[in-house]
Amino acid sequence: MFEEGRALKAKVGEQNVYDFALGNPILDPPEEFFDALEDVVADQAPGLHKYMENAGFHETRQAVADFHALESGLEYEADHIVMTVGAAGAMNVTLKTLLNEGEEVILLAPYFAEYWFYVDNHGGVPRVVHTTADFDLDLDAIEAAIKPSTRAIVINSPNNPTGRVYSHSTIDALAGVLEKKQQELGTTIYIVTDEPYRAIVYDEVDVPVVATYYPNTILCTSHSKDLGLAGERIGHIAVSPTAADSAELVNGMAFTLRTLGFVNAPAIMQRVITEVLGASVDIDFYRRNRDTLYHELKTLGFEMIKPEGAFYLFPKSPLEDDVALVRELQKLHILTVPGSGFGTPGHFRVSYAVERDVLERSLPVWKTAAEKLGLNNRDKQVPVR
Ligand code: PLP
Repeated sequence: MFEEGRALKAKVGEQNVYDFALGNPILDPPEEFFDALEDVVADQAPGLHKYMENAGFHETRQAVADFHALESGLEYEADHIVMTVGAAGAMNVTLKTLLNEGEEVILLAPYFAEYWFYVDNHGGVPRVVHTTADFDLDLDAIEAAIKPSTRAIVINSPNNPTGRVYSHSTIDALAGVLEKKQQELGTTIYIVTDEPYRAIVYDEVDVPVVATYYPNTILCTSHSKDLGLAGERIGHIAVSPTAADSAELVNGMAFTLRTLGFVNAPAIMQRVITEVLGASVDIDFYRRNRDTLYHELKTLGFEMIKPEGAFYLFPKSPLEDDVALVRELQKLHILTVPGSGFGTPGHFRVSYAVERDVLERSLPVWKTAAEKLGLNNRDKQVPVR
C-alpha cells in the first residue's frame, strides 16, 4: 500500500491523492518528549552505552511497573516488565516464549494482519474466530474454538481495524470463559492483550485493565501511537504478577530477545520514556478527524460502527468484493485497505490518521465515490467541522 501510494502520488501529484491506507501516526511527539530527549542526549556519564540487562534498564522497568501498578492495583515490579522493540517486538517475543510447535493461538477477526505471521513465525497455528456483526467478542464462538492445544488468545482494544473498545462486562465474560476452559482442560491459556492504542480513545470511554479480570494476562504495547514514536521502536511487555509462571515467562522473554536478534530495546528511548510515561499526543486531533469522517461517510450511505478508539473506520464494502471496492476508490485517488487483509472480507479500512486538509479536500471525492457506487446519498450538504 505504501509503495502504491507513493507511485500514485508521483504520477498525479501529492495534493491529488487522499491516502487513508496507512496507520502511520500523523502527530509529532509532545513537548515533554523533546525536553527529555535533550536531557538524555546531553548526559555523558560513563558506561551509558554498554550492553544492559536484556529486559532493559532497571530504572525504566521500575517506572513502567509503577505505572501499571497504579493503573491496575496489582503488584507489578521491575521483574514483570520486559522492554521491547515496539509492540511488534513485544508480540514476537511473547509468542516465541509461549509457543511449542503446533500450539494454537486464537485470533479475533478482523485482526491486525501481522498477527497471523507473528504466530506462524514461532511454530504456532492461528485459529481464527470471528467477532459479532458490530465487532464485539463472540464468547460462544471463542469457547467452541478452545482446545487442549490452545495456548493463548490475542485481543486488541482499542482495535485496529474496527475502533471497537471492549467493555468491562465483555472482558469479565471473556475471563469467565477462559477460566472455565482452563479448569475443564487442565491447561493454562494466556490472554495476550495488544494495546498500542490504549491512550487513543474518545468520549471518555474507559478501557478495562485486562489483568484485573484475568490472572494469566500478558500485555504488549508501545509508544508508537500514544507518543508518536513509531520509528523509534520502543515498547514493552508487562506480565501480570498474577500470571502462571510469571518469573519463568520473563526469563524466557529476556532470552528470546537475544535469540530473535533484538538483544534489547533501543537504549536512548528507554531512558527518554522513563521520564514521559503517561504523556501523549493531542488525542483531540484524532477525535475531530473521526467525527468529521464518520459523519460524512455515514451521511453518504456507508455503513459502519462509530469508533470508540484508535484511528480507523471499518465500513461495510458497498461492493461484494472488497478488493474491487478498494480499486474503485483508487481510481478516484482515495487509498484504503480491503477488509480481506484483516481476515474479514466485505469491509474496508479507512485510516483517519491524516492531515486535516487532506481529510477536508477528500470530502467531495468521497461524495463522487458514493454516487458512483449508487449509495443512498441523502444529498445533504454536511458542514465540515
Ligand atoms: N498491533 C497493532 C494492532 C497495530 O496496529 C500495530 C501497528 O500499527 C502494531 C501492533 C505494531 O506496533 P509497533 O509499531 O509498536 O510495533
